[in-house]
Amino acid sequence: MNNTYENYAGLLGGLKHAGMLFYIINPYENVFEKYEDVPDYQLQVWFSFFVLIALENAIIYAKKEKSFRLNDHVTSLSHWILQETGRIIFRGAEYYAYISIYQNLRIWNLSWNSVWTWYVTAIAVDFCYYWVHRANHEVLFLWAHHQVHHSSEEFNLVVGLRQSVLQHWCSFLFYLPLAFFIPPSHFVAHHQFNLIYQLWIHTTVIHDLGPFEWIFNTPKHHRVHHGCNLYCLDTNYGGVLILWDRLFGTFAEERKNEEIIYGLVVNPQSYNPLFLQVFYVASMIGRSLGMGNSRDKLAVYWKGPSWQPGLPRLGLDEFKVNVTSRIKYNPRMSNWQNFYIVLHFSLVLYTHVQLYVEKFETQHILSGATIINNACALIIIGLLFDRSKFANILELIRCCSYLYFLKNIQNSLVTYTYAASCCLWIYDIFKFLAVW
Ligand SMILES: [Zn+2]
Ligand SMILES: [Zn+2]
Repeated sequence: MNNTYENYAGLLGGLKHAGMLFYIINPYENVFEKYEDVPDYQLQVWFSFFVLIALENAIIYAKKEKSFRLNDHVTSLSHWILQETGRIIFRGAEYYAYISIYQNLRIWNLSWNSVWTWYVTAIAVDFCYYWVHRANHEVLFLWAHHQVHHSSEEFNLVVGLRQSVLQHWCSFLFYLPLAFFIPPSHFVAHHQFNLIYQLWIHTTVIHDLGPFEWIFNTPKHHRVHHGCNLYCLDTNYGGVLILWDRLFGTFAEERKNEEIIYGLVVNPQSYNPLFLQVFYVASMIGRSLGMGNSRDKLAVYWKGPSWQPGLPRLGLDEFKVNVTSRIKYNPRMSNWQNFYIVLHFSLVLYTHVQLYVEKFETQHILSGATIINNACALIIIGLLFDRSKFANILELIRCCSYLYFLKNIQNSLVTYTYAASCCLWIYDIFKFLAVW
């Protein structure tokens, strides 16, 4: 399933995979006997998706609807890089339980080369996704991870990339019943197609798609899902089909007369991706420890985020915060800081892309060092956006460490950039100390 990593150079030809963003896929060209032969479709589709992101930004700019926010965009992309790094490291390990059940315990043999198996899998995976997603919102232990996806106060295509590093690990159990009859090759393919479809529905530039809205999940339905207005909470869980929500009573129509406020009900005031990945887990543990008895301490983990002792599992609306307006968290940055962040984020992106290339697979120490450097860079970029007083000293340490350990793995231009960055932060720290 990771063969495509060997051929990342073919990325520019990736526009031919654009149909995959909308589940427009030829079943006859995408059935495989062995799960190892299933391509990494997510890798194939990134280029098309980034073209779509550029198009969305151009439309928003042309309409003068709202300004682009660098801090929010970069933070969403940082989560994507962290999750993709996890995907490269785990190498599909979360599929092994599925494969093992299919090989040892299956009760029905659906033919791998039948087009009917392809369609049955598409629907079955989407059905499971509905319940995975619903559980992610209704069980606090799972929500503590899924909340990462909902932590943006914006709603755009880049938010579709904002995911918890552990998201797949929180979900795989829900798909295991399919292993009793669906071949792993079909499951691995459709699990990817299902997630890929859900990227394009994160946008405000598409308003209403007519009859399509009845059956499929669309930007209109997913905007409601990302809202923290009271009517939006715990609704529209569907992945590809919105029919599941209509069937199981969780569907909510977008209201024309009520502006949707995006983000968590109480949104964290931070752009630090590490903090955003873990803060809710810490808060959940604290909440559990604060309960009066051991039964409630345990109940915190499996009941809903709005549950309190004495209330139903999902809480009651009268005790929930009804968010109707919000001042977005948007600390001001100077132009040179924005330029610096764009420059170093581009370097992270560049080295991240190289992780897919074979030469990095054979040099594990350097790959590991690159991953650590990238993760530190993304965290410090978040601290810079937050105007943390420790950001400059931490960035100086990172740039010096890069020059000491990693300068030989990139070209000299990157080395000069890091050297100049060191000088910049030394100057910044001295300037700060002089004022202080
Ligand atoms: Zn969700
Ligand atoms: Zn979403």
